[in-house]
Parts: sequence; structure tokens; C-alpha cells
Amino acid sequence: MTKNLFPGDDGFEAASRPWNLTVQQPVTSVAEVTEAAEVAELVRHARRTGAAIAVQPNGHGASGNAGGAILLRTGGLDTVEVDPGRRVARVGAGAKWGQVQAEAARHGLTGLPGSAPGVGVTGYLLGGGLSWFSRKFGFAAGSVLAFEVVDADGEQRRVSADSDPELFWALRGGGGDIAIVTALAIGLQAIDTVYGGRVMWPGQRAAEVLELFRALTFDAPEELTVWFNHVQPPGAPAMAGLDLTFYGSDSEAKEVLGRIDELGGAMLDTRGTLALSELGTITNDPTDPSPGLGRGELVPVLDERVVELVLGELAPLIGFQLRHLGGALARPSDLPSGSLAEPYLLYAFGAGIGPELTEAVRGRLARLTEELGDSVSGRRPYTFLAPGDSAAQAFTRADLERLRELKRARDPQGVFRANYPVLG
Ligand SMILES: Cc1cc2nc3c(=O)[nH]c(=O)nc-3n(C[C@H](O)[C@H](O)[C@H](O)COP(=O)(O)OP(=O)(O)OC[C@H]3O[C@@H](n4cnc5c(N)ncnc54)[C@H](O)[C@@H]3O)c2cc1C
Repeated sequence: MTKNLFPGDDGFEAASRPWNLTVQQPVTSVAEVTEAAEVAELVRHARRTGAAIAVQPNGHGASGNAGGAILLRTGGLDTVEVDPGRRVARVGAGAKWGQVQAEAARHGLTGLPGSAPGVGVTGYLLGGGLSWFSRKFGFAAGSVLAFEVVDADGEQRRVSADSDPELFWALRGGGGDIAIVTALAIGLQAIDTVYGGRVMWPGQRAAEVLELFRALTFDAPEELTVWFNHVQPPGAPAMAGLDLTFYGSDSEAKEVLGRIDELGGAMLDTRGTLALSELGTITNDPTDPSPGLGRGELVPVLDERVVELVLGELAPLIGFQLRHLGGALARPSDLPSGSLAEPYLLYAFGAGIGPELTEAVRGRLARLTEELGDSVSGRRPYTFLAPGDSAAQAFTRADLERLRELKRARDPQGVFRANYPVLG
């Protein structure tokens, strides 16, 4: 049965707080569901009363846009069933990547997750999803075979390429603005282990590590994904490093990655063969709610401005990450996230701890785009949008218009409120 919490109720504060603690969301109530039928009932209630619903399994992608809406918590819809014969997983809308990976790995299979096992599968896929394996398989949203949804009339429906091609197109990366997903079916890949890990050097060697990153990504096979990091976590010295995954034989891995060994002098090296359920150990992203602030920018070339920025002063930020994209992501795609011509994603991030540091980090992030000028393309992947950004930055003009038309046609009353609304 739906558990409804209202301001003043015991537990309301905790239930309405998003995972990203820098975001405020004064919602009118919180509805925690455990069945799809309860979602349908809530939508019919919202239609009758003129309320809006913001869905948020946990709030990794909270934008501050949920204020005044009913907050729908889908964490109770968390079943994961893998059919190894068909290589398909049916995933409840509240499930996290760690659950899917654990279940799939038992059969030598994997989904297309990003760095953090705590991120929700549905929110990530609705936003496109940039995976460790996207250079080979493209945006993770392309792996969705069907959605179980509740539409704005409060009807439960199954949406596939055959049953409703337009809504199916929109949900595979166009955000959560047009229907509420209660479960989805995703195709899995037959990869049972990867070679991967993190290698870190003292911060003084950041320029050499970046040069190595540039060399590795210049002619990388699509099975190799490398990210460069230059970071200074609170209370620790500055460090530069590489995070990577490669799937192929160990001997191939050694050949492709021999250049890392040649650099020598690493202070940390966690590389080894990993089960697909262990992918999260590469970056060890925070699992508890965190005050994260960040900005993602797509980078066409690693020119002098970008290099100077990522090798320069880190404070007040924690650091910079450069993710190598390209491969299948650059090929033509019929997903709303389209194709990414830019070979790199720059992510600048800091922690919003205390008012002074929060203001300093926000100011630094706001200036960054100006400083980078035309060294960044201006487009941002949907899952890397941050509070203050808009959906228009994630899509081409034509795809944005197509999403807007669908929103007006399918949710004319504006029952659904995504973190980055297409009409916003
Ligand atoms: C530590 C960390 C690491 C990350 N790593 C990556 C990465 O490697 N690659 C990447 O692409 N992204 C990454 N992200 C970004 C992440 O994919 C997005 O923030 C995503 O939106 C998170 O989804 P969620 O369900 O966990 O978050 P939530 O904030 O709970 O949901 C995000 C949005 O998804 C929509 N939504 C969620 N569920 C539903 C539903 N059932 N029906 C309709 N709409 C729904 C809503 O609009 C909601 O506002 C990372 C984020 C964090 C915090």
C-alpha cells in the first residue's frame, strides 16, 4: 500500500531529502510505492487535483525542480530478474545498477552501467547513460527493449518499438518527462570479466599522466575506456591518475596498457581482473548521500585551454575528470541523446560543505564555461546536467522539438515533472 508522508509527519524530512544534499526540494508530500498499480492510482489522483508528480528513486540527479510537486519514491519497485537464455533483464524502476550487475554477473552477463552501483537504472537510462562500455555499445539507453509505464491518463501500458514507437524513442534517453516508468527490459552483453582499475601518481606528475591519457585515447580500441583524473580530496595531497576498463584477454590487456607500466612510480595501482559485479570498486564513488556540485562539458579537442585548466589550480574544487568517449558514441544514432562527435567529457566537481565553500565552488563552476569559450561544444549529456542547466543543452534542436511535441500531446496537463523538463 502507498505510504504517504506530509510536512510535519515523522520521517517526512528524511523521505523528501534527495541523495544530492546540495539540492533543496520543498515537496508537498512524499508517496512511497511498492506496486505499479499504486503509481497508476497516484497519477489519477494528480490529474483530478491538478498536482504534479516528480519521480525520484533516490535523488542522484536531483535538480531542485521538484518543489511544489508530489515526490514519488519508486525504491520499493526493485525486483531484478535475469533471463540468461534471452540475455534480458526485467528491472523494476527502483532498482540500482549494483543489483542488476550482481544478478547478471551470475550468468556471465552485464548491463551497461556507469561508475556508481548506487545510481538508479531507470533514471540513468532515461537520461541516455554513459557507461564504461559505451565506446563499444553506445548510449546505455540503446539497450532498453521495452518499458512498463503509467501514462498521464493513469493507464498502465507496455511500450516497445512496435507498440508505441514515438514514446519508445523518447524514453530511450529523452528524460522522464512524458511517462512514469514502473519497470523496463534491458538487453545484456556476454562479458564476464574485465581488466580494470585505478592507477594514481603524485600530483606533480599530472602533466605526464595527461600525456599518457592522450596517447592511450588517440588510437584506443573500443573495448578500452580510460578516464583521466586530477584531484585533491579534502585533507589529502593532489594526485593524478587513470581509471580504466578493458575487456579482452589478459595478454591483450598487457599489450594495450603496457604504456602505463612504462610511466612507473605509481603510488596506487588496483588494476586486475574484475567480475562485472565489482565495476564500482574502480572509482569507489560515494554511496552515502553527498553534497556534490559539478559541471559536465563536452570537449571537441584537448587544446591548450583545456589542458591548462585540468592541470592548473584545483581549489576550491576537488578536481577534474576527463572521460574518453568516441567509438560507438560518435556513430549515427536514433536515440534522443543522438551521437556525440566530441571525444571527451570534462567533469569538474567539488563538495558543497558549508556556505563559504559552497559559494566558492559554485562560482568556480559558473566561470569555467566562460573561461573555456569555444574549447567546449556547449552541449551536455543529459545525465551530466546539473542544477541551473536545461534539457535544451542535451538535445539537438530537432530532437528537443520532437520531445516537446510529444510532451504537449501526451501530458497536456503537465502531471509529470522531470528533473530537467523538456518544456523548461
Ligand atoms: C556518484 C555518481 C556517479 C554517476 N556516474 C554516472 C556515469 O558514469 N554515467 C552517467 O551517465 N551518469 C552518471 N551519473 C549521473 C546519473 O546517471 C544521473 O544523475 C541519473 O539521473 C541518476 O538517476 P537516479 O535514478 O539514480 O536519480 P534520481 O535523481 O532519483 O532520478 C533522476 C531523474 O530520473 C527520472 N526518473 C527516475 N526514475 C523515473 C521513473 N521511474 N519514471 C520516470 N522518470 C524517472 C526523473 O526525472 C528523476 O528526476 C552519476 C551520478 C552520481 C551521483
